[in-house]
Amino acid sequence: MWDAEVDVIVAGGGGCGLVAALAAAEKGLEVAIFEKTEFLLGNTAASAGMIPAAGTRFQRELGIVETPEEMAEDILKKNHYESDPDLTLAVCKASAPLVEWIHDSLSIEMSLVEEFKYPGQRNYRMHAPPSRSGLELMKKLRKNVADRDNIFLMMKSQVTELILGDNQKVIGVVTESDGNTQRIKAKKVILATNGFGGDKQMVQRYIPEISEAIYFGYEANTGDGIKMGLQAGAAAENMTAYQGHSAVNEGSGLLVTWGTIMMGGFMVNVSGNRFENETMGYSEFAVEVLKQPEKCGFLIFDQAIYDSLLSIEDFKNLSETTAFKKADTMEELGERLRIDPASLAETFGCFQRNENGQQDEFKRNSFEKKLETPYYGVKVVPALFHTQGGLKINENAQVLDEQGRIIENLYAGGGAAVGVSGRHAYGYMSGNGLLAALGFGKIAGEHAAKTITDEQGVAK
Ligand SMILES: Cc1cc2nc3c(=O)[nH]c(=O)nc-3n(C[C@H](O)[C@H](O)[C@H](O)COP(=O)(O)OP(=O)(O)OC[C@H]3O[C@@H](n4cnc5c(N)ncnc54)[C@H](O)[C@@H]3O)c2cc1C
Repeated sequence: MWDAEVDVIVAGGGGCGLVAALAAAEKGLEVAIFEKTEFLLGNTAASAGMIPAAGTRFQRELGIVETPEEMAEDILKKNHYESDPDLTLAVCKASAPLVEWIHDSLSIEMSLVEEFKYPGQRNYRMHAPPSRSGLELMKKLRKNVADRDNIFLMMKSQVTELILGDNQKVIGVVTESDGNTQRIKAKKVILATNGFGGDKQMVQRYIPEISEAIYFGYEANTGDGIKMGLQAGAAAENMTAYQGHSAVNEGSGLLVTWGTIMMGGFMVNVSGNRFENETMGYSEFAVEVLKQPEKCGFLIFDQAIYDSLLSIEDFKNLSETTAFKKADTMEELGERLRIDPASLAETFGCFQRNENGQQDEFKRNSFEKKLETPYYGVKVVPALFHTQGGLKINENAQVLDEQGRIIENLYAGGGAAVGVSGRHAYGYMSGNGLLAALGFGKIAGEHAAKTITDEQGVAK
């Protein structure tokens, strides 16, 4: 009846899955990771690899003292208190041990990011590998997985179904690999298959406001874990939450940093008019761009902003293409961008009269500088990065049903589970993605391992 048996099955080989597997394997259990694609990348590899954590020794070394409660308060403030406060606090409490474990036990160098503070974070709390890259993080997690002989890694293997036993307990999964179907028995199953950004129908159903935007995440993230969980009787929560971005250069697929705005630039539509407060945040601004004619926008900034952003890799790469248009006057820039030149010049005239600290008609009050010739412009389109709603979980990352009862033996983390970003695009605070992925991944792996060990102890 069964093709194989292990202690723990992990569905999905992204950040959440690898951390969950390592946490469980460290306790001596046999773990199998099933990854749908031929790569161990996921959205985690596309991220900046920055993990927010409160109370780490890296912070203390720099004289920063903060509590998980303070970190949770920042996250809740950003999402307008829409995420579950207990769940939010639980993952914040797990954050410092997570970062120190990655550094000490997995030998992945972590340091505090002191270059800048993300909006809404009262302290420096982002921790990242030296390159500040998710790809480096994934490569090193992969090496840790390869070094362990109690983790079995199955590539191009999709988990397609949860197998239920008596009392709706999860007892294993069905996998598909090259047309070969297998039934794998396990004591615990951890769903780490991320969200549903890659499933257009699900995006249309749950987050219609962003369904017209391009999807900028891993194509294989088609909500599989959420669908399997729902079939097994789980509840889903905050399915409308997501992280968007307002500035992808369509031709190249490269991201134009929102630094263009934060350093003093603005955005217009194809008619040359501004349409909203650009500083509201690039995630929630994406919907405003989608409402504009031709569903696009044009970032306008100047030489000084351009020069200082060249240190960002994507921006530099973009500067080597024809995407950025440069001109000495706004009329000329309008022509080069193929937008109404007279209207752009008029918009610019109004924009330049704004004073830093004073609200304009769109309630924007930060105007870092007066733009100076030569000017730059670039056409951008909005994108969906990743979804943040998913299966309802408790503080142990155990999946719950509509009545709040535990579905025995089933865990979820990362984009497959409800995160800590509330119910709207504005609720996403930088770092929430990896916090929910690696934080709940570790919580799930450790809890699954402890429960199995305890159960075995009782059985002896
Ligand atoms: C461009 C971009 C930039 C980002 N930057 C940041 C950032 O700086 N900071 C931050 O905190 N977050 C960031 N995020 C979000 C963050 O990357 C994600 O929230 C996080 O990586 C999710 O981790 P995960 O393990 O849940 O998913 P992933 O890393 O995407 O892994 C999911 C894996 O599951 C596999 N899978 C899917 N279905 C199945 C199945 N049925 N069976 C087996 N395998 C399956 C997929 O192939 C994939 O490998 C960014 C996202 C994007 C797209």
